[in-house]
Amino acid sequence: MKTIELIVPCYNEEKCIELFYNAVREVFRKLPDFDFIITYVDDGSRDHTLNEIKRVVEIAGQGSVQYIALSRNFGKESAIYAGLSKSTGDYVALIDADLQHPPELLIPMIDAIEKEGYDRATARRVSRKGEPLVRSAFSKAFYSIINHITVLDLISGSTDYCLMKRTVVDSIVSMSERERFTKGIYSWVGFKNKWIEYENVERVAGRTKWSFLGLLRYAYNGFIAFATTPLRGVVYLGILITIASFWYAIKIGIMALKNPLAPRTGYNSIMIVLLFLGGVIITTLGVIGEYLARIYMEVKNRPIYIERETNIKGDKEKEQQALIAGNNTDSEKGL
Ligand code: UDP
Ligand code: MG
Repeated sequence: MKTIELIVPCYNEEKCIELFYNAVREVFRKLPDFDFIITYVDDGSRDHTLNEIKRVVEIAGQGSVQYIALSRNFGKESAIYAGLSKSTGDYVALIDADLQHPPELLIPMIDAIEKEGYDRATARRVSRKGEPLVRSAFSKAFYSIINHITVLDLISGSTDYCLMKRTVVDSIVSMSERERFTKGIYSWVGFKNKWIEYENVERVAGRTKWSFLGLLRYAYNGFIAFATTPLRGVVYLGILITIASFWYAIKIGIMALKNPLAPRTGYNSIMIVLLFLGGVIITTLGVIGEYLARIYMEVKNRPIYIERETNIKGDKEKEQQALIAGNNTDSEKGL
């Protein structure tokens, strides 16, 4: 029997913990062929979330509900990482505690992986009903810009709510970078993904943790974590200004030759020097920026590639086989 593990990041969700548990249990009942584990990750809540979780653990009995409590509020992305790196399930789902991610979607997600051969299935909101207009507009702009200037291919309305195979989980955990822009990471690791669409749902209780500023910071982190193209823009701008300074110098030179008796002011030479130096400085900054970006990407220590499947035996298996073979020859010698 395969095990499905639900990772539920919780920050000040005391009212949602039990409601969530009851709702997902209904779905589990419809899926008798699977074992389920719920892993609540308490992200340093300041209310009674942890107590609520412990209460649910008691109701459920050990094993099927477990929890990890973080020492302080690290943010949703870190909470998810904590859950993923400790996860053991064959399939792992990421799901919010506030029931904005309808648990029934797990059924089509499981089908996508089990029957249709996908590696993961991700929920996608088709409507943004109940969301402030400004927020929708900003998020649209964000997706269109980030898709243009990075290697990523993000889709508007895509959520963190997903179900994935063990291989996908392992590759996400292998990206140990500190600033975790989860949506970017999911897109970056690849694998075959199926989008499961649903209508936006309001949260059952409590309040959203996202302020407008928080969302802006999130978008900014996304750009910085994956985009290096703007830096190239800086280099081009610098080169352009340098060229402009030459063009200006030539123009002034020709004018001076044509009209040698015209009165000279210092203006022209100052402009040329200013333009030239400005251009050189901006180009240099851009180049330094590119190096910095590369160092930044490098220290993230991302894997060079991620494997989907192979029939080559793993190094560990090879080592073990060599060991067994070695033992055999030893015993043969002994005979
Ligand atoms: N969350 C978390 N740590 C945080 C903020 C949020 O673990 O610092 C959790 C939160 O408890 C919820 C999920 O992340 O389960 C989504 O948060 P929220 O509902 O506030 O976001 P929204 O749905 O409004 O985008
Ligand atoms: Mg929510």
